[in-house]
Amino acid sequence: MDDINEIKSKLSLPSNIAIITHRNPDGDAIGSSLALKLFLELFGHRCTVILPSEYPAVFKYLPSLDSVSVFDLNQDEVRSSLSHADIIFCLDFNGLDRIDPLALNITESIAYKAMIDHHLDPEPFADWYMSDTASSSTCELIYRFIEALGHAPHMINKDIATCLFTGILTDTGSFKYGTNPEVYRIASELKKLGVDDYMINDAIFNSWTHRQMTILGHALRNRLEVIPELHSGIIFLTKSDYHKYQIARGDTEGLVNYILMIKGMHVAAFIREMPHGEIRLSLRSKGEISVQELARKHFNGGGHKNASGGSSTSSLEETITKLKEVLPEFISVLND
Ligand code: 5GP
Ligand code: MN
Repeated sequence: MDDINEIKSKLSLPSNIAIITHRNPDGDAIGSSLALKLFLELFGHRCTVILPSEYPAVFKYLPSLDSVSVFDLNQDEVRSSLSHADIIFCLDFNGLDRIDPLALNITESIAYKAMIDHHLDPEPFADWYMSDTASSSTCELIYRFIEALGHAPHMINKDIATCLFTGILTDTGSFKYGTNPEVYRIASELKKLGVDDYMINDAIFNSWTHRQMTILGHALRNRLEVIPELHSGIIFLTKSDYHKYQIARGDTEGLVNYILMIKGMHVAAFIREMPHGEIRLSLRSKGEISVQELARKHFNGGGHKNASGGSSTSSLEETITKLKEVLPEFISVLND
């Protein structure tokens, strides 16, 4: 983390603050952004949370969610917030391609830019960094940021705690991966601050529609290829699947994780041919296998060592073939 006193002095007078996070925001992106907004507003700052694209409906219980500006829905409002900002916080993303097409509005802005993030290889466009890849989530980092500013935990009210708990819960897959001693300490503090963890779990995880269950059934029954010799599994969805099952953004969230539930699987790939033709990949791995390197080298992507994403300009079949070709290099660490 860069010098906390530098950002502390930037925050010493009430300012216009824009908080931006990545496209297709997840629980950590939305939770960390709203938590920081609610916290900074306690000190008289005027904050706007900017999401490049819409958020999943499961997060509708999050306090202040109706105040966010979504670029895809209101471009002028978002551009205006960014141009009036004295400080821009970039949360839960490490590269400007994650907020495309707002990248130019960030680089050309004269605002002071602070990045708080836990992805590998942060790009050098900000003025101040809190970047920690050992951290479970950006929400964990926001809690630590508030502590580092010198505030006592009771400054975190129940609404802020609810936002922070959401990101920790979703980015650790319900405390299954990416954890560290701090996560459990912070989760405990958040529970003491009044977080209704039962409600949050129920809202996020028991909210499937029958259609989503049907999509999962189809994917596991007809679209899963297990390759034992590569310790890998691939789920693919075609453009016609998207059409036939009316698959919308968010309907396939978590699908890739089912592959790793099969004994012996170390790499999971979910490859989809989006309705507009783009091929997107979600990659997951166990242990020392780095899907971040795989995504970065071969699929114009990145993320975390064990959870990354990317894209391809080839066809669905060619992308699957390419993945199978490059996989042996990445699973070779299993033999070390
Ligand atoms: P998911 O598979 O859930 O979309 O993404 C998994 C992780 O990879 C997330 O942490 C996300 O930030 C990262 N990620 C997904 N797509 C991309 C991409 O196109 N580029 C980069 N750099 N990271 C990505
Ligand atoms: Mn995150």
